[in-house]
Amino acid sequence: MKNGKVYLIGAGPGDPGLITVRGLELIKTCDVVVYDYLANPVLLESARPDAEKIYVGKKGGEHTLPQEDINSLLTRVAKSGRSVARLKGGDPYVFGRGGEEAEELISAGVEFEVVPGVTAGVAGPAYAGIPVTHRSYTSTMAFVTGHEDPDKNETAIHWDKIATGIGTIVFYMGVKNLPMIAGNLIKNGRSPKTPVALVRWGTTTDQQTWTGTLETIAEIAQREKVAPPTLIVVGEVIELRDKLNWFEKRPLFGKRIIVTRARAQASDFCQRLAEQGATPVEFPTIETVEPESWRDLDDAIARIHEYDWLIFTSVNGVGYLMKRLRETGLDVRDLAGPKICAIGRKTAASAEALGLGVKIVPEEFRAEGILAAIGDVKGTRILIPRAKEAREILPDELGKMGATVDVVTAYRTVKPEGKKADVLRLVREGKMDMVTFASSSTVSNFAEMFSAGELSEIISSVPAASIGPITTETAKKLGFRVVVEPEEYTIEALAGSIASHFSKR
Ligand code: SAH
Repeated sequence: MKNGKVYLIGAGPGDPGLITVRGLELIKTCDVVVYDYLANPVLLESARPDAEKIYVGKKGGEHTLPQEDINSLLTRVAKSGRSVARLKGGDPYVFGRGGEEAEELISAGVEFEVVPGVTAGVAGPAYAGIPVTHRSYTSTMAFVTGHEDPDKNETAIHWDKIATGIGTIVFYMGVKNLPMIAGNLIKNGRSPKTPVALVRWGTTTDQQTWTGTLETIAEIAQREKVAPPTLIVVGEVIELRDKLNWFEKRPLFGKRIIVTRARAQASDFCQRLAEQGATPVEFPTIETVEPESWRDLDDAIARIHEYDWLIFTSVNGVGYLMKRLRETGLDVRDLAGPKICAIGRKTAASAEALGLGVKIVPEEFRAEGILAAIGDVKGTRILIPRAKEAREILPDELGKMGATVDVVTAYRTVKPEGKKADVLRLVREGKMDMVTFASSSTVSNFAEMFSAGELSEIISSVPAASIGPITTETAKKLGFRVVVEPEEYTIEALAGSIASHFSKR
């Protein structure tokens, strides 16, 4: 068997958008992903569903797995013929022991490739408003470990040379040794007034920054209980922070916001929130799944020419019908016969995108709206593929108007258990800043997912944002404190109102 290849990949400093194109491509295709504490776990969501994911995290020196075991793990997996994405925080060769892993692979005869990453020492300061070099301030910069190998007898850091010879000095893994680091720099001639910044969880939505001077920073760190992972940035460039601090000044910086929309519809909203600096926490209260049986839908498709109208009431209805067609070896040509009506612009757009010619697009769910659009339905046969749990109003009304209506189940809606425990933990830690509702049904579904006690905990500590008056009413009835409701009932407006709510405060 041919050995698999090992890719030593830099995951970037934390913001998942800062991984390289090559790195992400490999995460998507490798058989196994071996990852560290500092590699953002969000990146794992891009791995193949069948990929094995192995955590070998390190946290402030407490290795989950000793380095020798990581080395032999990589070799063993590669020798089983599988490709490995070895994902490390920042850049694999900057204080990441990537060099050692590569040497091991070479000596075991395993092929490897390095995918450099954006190192925290550059990106963390950048997100804190600090350019590590600047023509008016400094032309030199150094990366220094603040945590030398404890087995070394002598220091390999020439404090006398770096203290005055280098403009910007970035220490990795140094926060515990901060008094020693600041002391050594002063002792070796750097001015005690030199600015220092501490950047914790840089580039992530948990980023925190403290500033002081070589003289004061150790005390600040102790008072503020600054813990790893933190970078120590020393140098005059820090003076630019007030002017260049773009990331921490975004309106939703550091805010965690629960998004209750179904996963398929959440991404647009999440992106809008993230662009303003928020961490969206996806928590779908509803999920769609296949029907228990496809029989009714299959039957209806086989007799499709008997219908005058095919009415889609949702994007999901379109999606599941088309999925079923493909699975049974059919395609849009097998829907020839009935004219197609799609309720709402989004439903119509999704049908058009799949190659269906939509004749009529009523804006309303009520039969009147449909009648106004398609004319008299007396004596016609109508097929409506939709959710099992959908309400009966539309077919009933069409029936009363003389149409023969066949409603078939194209999908079911279920409540996902999902990340309930995560959400509750963050609520209890006081780290949830808002819950958002884009429809009445998401409010009631959300409430039903928790016990009464849990729900009142959430309600008492997390304010709500609602898309419009009807949703607000449902939320208020359940006890939610609704503090945001946009004037226009759209997702864009909701995201905008949330941002202005937080920037006002
Ligand atoms: N290979 C990594 C560094 C690993 S050493 C890189 O290139 O970035 C681990 C140290 O990196 C931490 O102790 C901390 O000092 C720093 N670090 C890594 N990610 C960080 C982040 N998001 N914010 C602040 N410091 C970080």
